[in-house]
Amino acid sequence: MSRKLREKAKNILKKEEGTIYKGNPGLISVALAYPNRYFVGMSNLGLQSIYGILNRRGDTVAERVFLPDMEDINEYKRTDTRLFSLESQRMVIDFDILAFSVSFENDYPNILSILSLSGIPLESSERGDEYPLVIAGGVCTFFNPEPISGFVDLFIIGEGEEVIMEFMDLYGRLRSEGYPRNRLLSSLAQIEGIYVPGLYSPSYNQDGTIKGITAGPGLPQRIKKRWIREVDSHTTKTCIMTPDTEFGDMSLIEISRGCKWSCRFCLEGYVYRPLRFRDLKIISKEIRGKNSAIKKIGLVGATVSSYPYFKELFKELREDGERIKISVSSLRADSLSTDLLMMLTESGHKTIALAPEAGSERLRKFINKKLSDEDILKGIELILRSDIPNIKLYFMIGLPTETNIDIDAILILTRRAREIMLKIGKEKGRIGRLTLSVNPFIPKPHTPLQWFPMDHVKSLKEKLKYIKKGVSLLDNVKIIHELPKWSYIQTLLSRGDRRVGKILLSQFVSGKNWNAASRQSDLDTDFYVYRKMGLDEILPWDHIDPGVKKEILIREHMEAIRNVA
Ligand code: SF4
Repeated sequence: MSRKLREKAKNILKKEEGTIYKGNPGLISVALAYPNRYFVGMSNLGLQSIYGILNRRGDTVAERVFLPDMEDINEYKRTDTRLFSLESQRMVIDFDILAFSVSFENDYPNILSILSLSGIPLESSERGDEYPLVIAGGVCTFFNPEPISGFVDLFIIGEGEEVIMEFMDLYGRLRSEGYPRNRLLSSLAQIEGIYVPGLYSPSYNQDGTIKGITAGPGLPQRIKKRWIREVDSHTTKTCIMTPDTEFGDMSLIEISRGCKWSCRFCLEGYVYRPLRFRDLKIISKEIRGKNSAIKKIGLVGATVSSYPYFKELFKELREDGERIKISVSSLRADSLSTDLLMMLTESGHKTIALAPEAGSERLRKFINKKLSDEDILKGIELILRSDIPNIKLYFMIGLPTETNIDIDAILILTRRAREIMLKIGKEKGRIGRLTLSVNPFIPKPHTPLQWFPMDHVKSLKEKLKYIKKGVSLLDNVKIIHELPKWSYIQTLLSRGDRRVGKILLSQFVSGKNWNAASRQSDLDTDFYVYRKMGLDEILPWDHIDPGVKKEILIREHMEAIRNVA
């Protein structure tokens, strides 16, 4: 084992607070893997929360594993060292379970890297009893696990906190009874919300669409998403603090799950249904009970500004002693309260993000984003007047039905926002910055826009060029964006079926780029990315039941189209 890598792990651990060490042999060991680097993964609340839950079990030890930095990957290879966990520096291959927490499609190739560096066969079908059980959870797995289904033995469909205990109880019992891998998987597949892809077989029509997905004997045809009814039964919060992560200066805590607005492109409003708010008393207790060194709390939830007990929370955080600062990711322009803005100003917030998503009101109506131009501009004014100088606006391009008028509307709204910024900036003697974050629309499974294709890369590039030109002469306005070619890959992985896994595998094994790997696989990737799927078609993810009926998605889809007719 490389001493350099071991030393590096120890140095990382030295800077952490809250790390759990449980060396006891005989416990069920879980290597909890985030398929990206430590810096990214340690700001992921899902990973942090499951780490805490698993380690609170008396019979289980969970340790973390991340994708090493590039230079460390070379060191692993050079010294023939197998990937090891942070806490005990034990090799991943020696754990009982390797559990991935997957939040982004573009991290899928990193799953293969972690398996390979661990010395675990990449394909599930090649693993024998001597290897850890490879499981995966996280939002990607409950909207469409199919592209990575060849590499994962078992998926947890839904909210991990709800099903993990039941899973671990049964796993522990079957493990002590010496169940071999196949029997173990068949038995675990009986738990509601557990999907063992090897026990389900897809078949295809001549035109490449899906003919059907057949469940193994005794298994449900559709796997139901599990969700927490008692949202306060577990607190979702940062367990380990470290300065070496994006949100290293704050402790994150979830205050709500789901979103009442149901924008038609957005997963949060669909797969996280129903909307649940966490109890104020429990949140306050958690915040107050935290290590006194923590002075800043990141409030996590799709609708932070809609949290109904915000005033009370605000009061609580300002109570005697040193005031705790808060941070939020983005807010709804039409539900900004002065309390919230005052709190954010006091907390040192310099930028607030709003998400108009589309430039024109027509297109916003299409996606069900119930915000008028005036709502957005009023929101901007309120923020700037509260002494927060910078605004970030999120836009999507390539939305279905989009025309040049909608693209121009992005520029018009930007100019109007900038005028407000200049006016208030002059009054206050400080002019802030307006940042446009412009990203391609990715059609997401289980949303009403899932049937629509992604816009062509060439067209997206032209639109970006046009917008960039339009803002190039505006001082104080900057634009950031995803590269359309990466959005293409994201859509492929988001809407793909099992066959797409072959491209992932071929790309990883050959080290070629995506285009070369696609050609080698004989798959037409445009089929997944640029094709409008039929409303009566069996979709690759139709055997996953997210708790929202397909009829509701179709109704919303038709309603969107009616809105632009
Ligand atoms: S885009 Fe925002 S407001 Fe709309 S459903 Fe998603 S989280 Fe809610």
